[in-house]
Amino acid sequence: METINNYINGSLTEPVSKQYLQNIEPATGQVYSLCPDSDEHDVQLAYEAAKSAFDGWSKTPLEERMLMLMHIADGIEKRMDEFVAAESKDNGKPLKLARAVDIPRAVSNFRFYASAIQHFASESHQMPGVGINYTLRQAIGVVGCISPWNLPLYLFSWKIAPALATGNCVVAKPSEITPYTAYLLSKVCIEAGLPKGVLNIVHGLGGKVGQAIVEHEGIKAISFTGGTETGKRIAATAAPMFKKLSLELGGKNPTLVFADCDLDETVKQVVTASFSNQGEICLCGSRIFVQKSIYEKFRDAFVARVKTLKVGDPNNADTNLGAIVSEQHKNKVLSYIQLAKEEGGKILCGGSDLGQTELNDRCKNGYFVLPTVIEGLHFQCRTQQEEIFGPVVTLTPFENEEDALTMANSVRYGLSAAIWTNDLKRAHRVAEKIEAGIVWINSWLVRDLRTPFGGVKASGVGREGGWEAMRFFTEPKNVFIKS
Ligand code: NAD
Repeated sequence: METINNYINGSLTEPVSKQYLQNIEPATGQVYSLCPDSDEHDVQLAYEAAKSAFDGWSKTPLEERMLMLMHIADGIEKRMDEFVAAESKDNGKPLKLARAVDIPRAVSNFRFYASAIQHFASESHQMPGVGINYTLRQAIGVVGCISPWNLPLYLFSWKIAPALATGNCVVAKPSEITPYTAYLLSKVCIEAGLPKGVLNIVHGLGGKVGQAIVEHEGIKAISFTGGTETGKRIAATAAPMFKKLSLELGGKNPTLVFADCDLDETVKQVVTASFSNQGEICLCGSRIFVQKSIYEKFRDAFVARVKTLKVGDPNNADTNLGAIVSEQHKNKVLSYIQLAKEEGGKILCGGSDLGQTELNDRCKNGYFVLPTVIEGLHFQCRTQQEEIFGPVVTLTPFENEEDALTMANSVRYGLSAAIWTNDLKRAHRVAEKIEAGIVWINSWLVRDLRTPFGGVKASGVGREGGWEAMRFFTEPKNVFIKS
């Protein structure tokens, strides 16, 4: 069985405690590797390594930093098959999704920030006859990056790349549920010749390693992606220490389907937006609101299409939905389906896990849930208010625009929204009024790495992406010179 190790001060090292956690393949339910059960001692070692590396790395010429990040991107790309297989095995997502989205986007993240650092300029403000202000944007020092299990390498690199590009040294923690591609990344960094201590990856539990990173006095900024409750704890710990915080949290995203949409295309895209990665993408639309005049037509076409989705072995080329990430998460998803029934919801399709008989031998102990569509629930019930983060969506009719906005904005979250309409004026109007950080019109998940990424309300604080991340990972210092 393979043993994953921490990456500290340029080397792969075992945890100080020498304790390991079992890492399970969700498609089979089998333990297949061991993940370090690190603690505050490992975080301290990582911090010391990062601190020693900071002076050298922050003064490294931009072109050299750019080249190093490019080497890392190339290194991932060279091992593409290995990364794709590992991400699928660790998370349960279809192999073809890891190949089409996760790993290529991780490569793009490194390349994007490698080139961004060469174009990142700071401001100057002239005061005629008085003098000039110029703003330095300096690296913060040692920063912490903590990421979740749903898009493991993709979200990990989305933080690490801008942090490194701007000259910081990093103590990073991937999710203990999906540690494998972060381990492969350590190997790529060693092969690329990344100076020791610049990036340190400490594996382990959130309550131990994550908490120790957040509590560490020397770690000056935390970039976190994960659940809202964890975000709250992190904010409560970090705020009195005056740390810079970027929090990308949960969602309960609305999809608004207006009667004037292109119905066939909308049905097709909304199915994808609902069930990609088993519904375990923070941007998946889990509450679908449909204008009354087309409600039945949309519902029937939608359910018919969902029924064609194949759930099963992530390795199969025709699999649309793979395994749920863990047994615990599968049980959480199923408990929400039960709750929906108790709240009076009607299950239109799915509604259970996949029976063992429907799975091949390899996967018969895996964690699979059928894509589930529910109707008949009030928009304020728990099923429609709480994040499920699985292959479960609700369908709810609405009368008019105002009605749709009331329902869409009724949750505590505000990450993303999708609007389906051919009325341009309506699209602009609704986009402006919807409470979300990201709005797609007649599309979903189109990403331009230059745009601000993040949510409002309980979906987070701050933005990632483009200059936003570069600004987060730097400290502005204004300097005035008298003329
Ligand atoms: P989680 O909050 O349980 O864990 C996220 C990370 O935080 C993990 O690495 C975990 O070990 C760590 N952690 C846990 N407790 C900690 C603590 N006390 N201090 C520091 N770190 C701690 O989330 P998850 O279950 O891994 O991921 C699913 C959640 O992430 C969902 O709510 C989803 O919406 C959200 N998410 C949000 C975005 C976004 O961009 N807004 C993207 C992906 C996922």
